[in-house]
Amino acid sequence: MKKFYPKRLLIEKEALKYPLGKKLEKKFLDDELSVEYIKSHNRVGPEEQMSPLQLFNWAKETLVVGVKKTLNFKSCQPSADYRLVTTTSCPGKCEYCYLSTNLGSAVYPRIYVNIKEILKAVKKHIRKGRGEIVTFEASSSSDPLAVEHLTDSLRQTIEYFATQPKGRLRVVTKFGFVDNLLDVNHQGRTKFRFSINPEYIIKNFEHGTSSLAERIAAAAKIQKADYPLGFIIAPLIMYPEWKEGYEELLTTLKDKLDNPQDQRLSFELIQYRFSTRAKRLIEARFPNTKLKLNKEDYHHKGFGKYVYPKDQEEELKSFMEERIKENFPQAEIEYFV
Ligand code: SF4
Repeated sequence: MKKFYPKRLLIEKEALKYPLGKKLEKKFLDDELSVEYIKSHNRVGPEEQMSPLQLFNWAKETLVVGVKKTLNFKSCQPSADYRLVTTTSCPGKCEYCYLSTNLGSAVYPRIYVNIKEILKAVKKHIRKGRGEIVTFEASSSSDPLAVEHLTDSLRQTIEYFATQPKGRLRVVTKFGFVDNLLDVNHQGRTKFRFSINPEYIIKNFEHGTSSLAERIAAAAKIQKADYPLGFIIAPLIMYPEWKEGYEELLTTLKDKLDNPQDQRLSFELIQYRFSTRAKRLIEARFPNTKLKLNKEDYHHKGFGKYVYPKDQEEELKSFMEERIKENFPQAEIEYFV
């Protein structure tokens, strides 16, 4: 797939004090793209009135560049100790993206230019661990690989962690753009997890992201480059041919990896879920969605959140766990939720 190229750039004036801000301004001015100067990356929107669908599409075609002010990292349990945010949101349009739901109208991809300051703050948070390993999640607020060709920030972050014996970085992605990361000296301190699903799911619901074949090819390259590797299969959806779909997904993965028996391989399993708020937004943004959003067909977990009924959840869990153990007996299944 093609890498993201925005229709317009909105850039904070303060971001121009940083090399990455200057570089992005120059690049897009040279390309004669519309460049607008803004005061804050937090309050951005079109001048004209738009429907929720138009607003969503406008936002996903807009790149916002700013300076990250909050350098006190939030907790990211259970995935890691802290969230490490160098970008927010992404240009993809996955129908069930939880970020799209949480960010509301602010779903525009954002790049923060003060990467050196952010990495300095990493050091401060590692010190708080008092000698214990401290973990950071790079994908809690975005998919950093979607804009890495514009930022180079993930590469710098991985290099930084290679110098930090007590720091560990975790990355999740639905994109296959890993080529500039393969020769990085990572010291095994960055773990990549590829978010995968049967091609049917990716085609129908994960618009603007890499295909399954691209993600698996990228995962194989990452493994060859000796990074620790894992997979997040999420959301697990019980569509009519789901058993065949997930079976094929796992056997293809096994065939394409050079070392499917790598003891560091891991799987994280997350069943399909939606909230009342997500349902409202998905129906407004994707009026022809094939997602099943009838609350009556699901188990209400409380707080407006819905998952599969208990018997279906059990069937899904045991099917996935058995197939993973068959194909990847050495791998760890970290959790099913
Ligand atoms: S790739 Fe990830 S962050 Fe981007 S839209 Fe899809 S789920 Fe959201």
